[in-house]
Amino acid sequence: MDEILTVRHLTRGQSLRKFSRSAALSLRLPIPGGQKGTEQSNLLVYARIDQGRWLADCPHCNGSEAVEPDTPLFYCLNSLCRRPTGNLYAPLRFPKERVAIEQILLDRPNPTTRNWRRGESLADLRAENAAHGVA
Ligand SMILES: [Zn+2]
Repeated sequence: MDEILTVRHLTRGQSLRKFSRSAALSLRLPIPGGQKGTEQSNLLVYARIDQGRWLADCPHCNGSEAVEPDTPLFYCLNSLCRRPTGNLYAPLRFPKERVAIEQILLDRPNPTTRNWRRGESLADLRAENAAHGVA
């Protein structure tokens, strides 16, 4: 089944929490979500779709991480993003029209054209589909 990809797809079924924990261990980063040295922030991070994948951008280093709607949390895995308080671990916001956005983008046969950024409306996406002959 064609889907917008999330952490689970990109890590063979691992949850975001499990993947972030194992990745942090292998990268020698603070463990997200509780260990001293991990910045737990109220700063909101927003999800976007890039070439058919749900991603989010770190506001500190502009690196991107795969994310998943089931676990609306962002953890920066960039080892160069270390800050005095540790890598960013923050709430992640998905658009309330997430399912509709995914459906419109999944009509596009080429996954590299499945892109959505915060601020793009459903009407914008439908107009792009129409302009490219996608039903
Ligand atoms: Zn970062």
